[in-house]
Amino acid sequence: MALSGIEIFKLLPKTNCKKCGFPTCLAFAMALAQGKAEIAKCPDISEDAKNKLGEASAPPIKTFTLGKEEKAVKLGGETVIFRHDKKFFNPTVLGLNIKDTLSDEELTKKAKEVADSEIERVGQKLRVEAISLEYVSKDPKRFESAVRVIVENAPDAVIILNCNDPSALEPAIKMIADRKPLIYCATEDNAEALANIAKTNRVPLAVSAEGPDALSTLTERIKGMGVEDIVIDPQPKNARELIHYNTIIRRSALKKGFKPLGYPIINFVIKEDPILEANIASIAIAKYASIVILSSVERWKNLALFTLRQNIYTDPQVPMQVEQKIYKIGEPTPDSPLMITTNFSLTYFIVAGEIENSKVPSWLAVMDCEGLSVLTAWAAGKFVASKIANFIKESGVENMVKNRELIIPGQVAILSGALEDKLEGWKVTVGPREANGLPTFLKSRAA
Ligand code: SF4
Repeated sequence: MALSGIEIFKLLPKTNCKKCGFPTCLAFAMALAQGKAEIAKCPDISEDAKNKLGEASAPPIKTFTLGKEEKAVKLGGETVIFRHDKKFFNPTVLGLNIKDTLSDEELTKKAKEVADSEIERVGQKLRVEAISLEYVSKDPKRFESAVRVIVENAPDAVIILNCNDPSALEPAIKMIADRKPLIYCATEDNAEALANIAKTNRVPLAVSAEGPDALSTLTERIKGMGVEDIVIDPQPKNARELIHYNTIIRRSALKKGFKPLGYPIINFVIKEDPILEANIASIAIAKYASIVILSSVERWKNLALFTLRQNIYTDPQVPMQVEQKIYKIGEPTPDSPLMITTNFSLTYFIVAGEIENSKVPSWLAVMDCEGLSVLTAWAAGKFVASKIANFIKESGVENMVKNRELIIPGQVAILSGALEDKLEGWKVTVGPREANGLPTFLKSRAA
């Protein structure tokens, strides 16, 4: 449980020496309780007090990584119940469950589906990050060779060893411990054996029990055995239970500082009906799952889940922006058309995509409007004639294009007269209102 300011104060030296930068030990204690100071700032604190306080001031949801190097994924670390309170930090990891009874050829195909799942959307690379290899064969040798096939064909994937038989787990984990896989899962019956394997190999361990109560008892037991990095599965049987359990877990960790539930959540959402599976996966992404395991990865499902995840894990207070500059679309020449838009990422990628569709090489001037879309920026006084004129003059585009013509979005046609007045020697042309009108507009001009 989190300690109050007064409880923290009782553990401090109480000399009011000010070395921590606060006028009194009490002021320092209050700042610590609010997460606004670090224990290390007090040089005179005893080791015992440091341990007690370190535990109490640890993040409410444990944070750690799975996987290797630059493709590692970060779990946990969330600090709010609702995204609009601040932001969500570490996006849900999506994973594909694969049974080890498949032939090597089928395993290879599935692993490659994960390896090839990456797409780019609004400037970000999005992919299915994990593979859960399920021990169905009951044959440790088969499990080991299946792990080998998976890691060969999906070298960047985070591996979840979905196996509760220590004799099959040990050789598999020795092979890939450096990739920091996740062991799934310790239960009431195998807790000691799996905790030992996780501890020896320094890898995180998933813990599974029905509902938050049983889970919290088990996580305390596992932690007592020396395993720190834990993922929890509350075993929801349906969407209603998933929302209920995941919400209790998040609230207990954040609102009550209840450490036994302060861990990232894993949800298996495997269903025969792919639409139902995608729906439940969406709920899990929205409601606090750090890892969601699916039965299949398909392009339509990936795109829907990637988009949802990207939106939920985007900071609501910071619009997604692209850099202010003159972008080349295709291989433009000094005679190519020049268009202008704002630096809201979505606007940029839609406009750039439509220009690409037109196959007319063009220049695209992207103006910094603090990440606002065209109409919003205009209404906010950020995309107006005087500012556009200054940007065009300072951007250096005059040295890139021969014809002095600037095409503005149709939504701000009202600016054309004032802009021509400010941009001496330039002709201002009003383009289409919507970006999807650009291909026809550009092709008709090029004809
Ligand atoms: Fe108190 Fe430690 Fe701060 Fe000194 S450095 S005032 S002992 S909390």
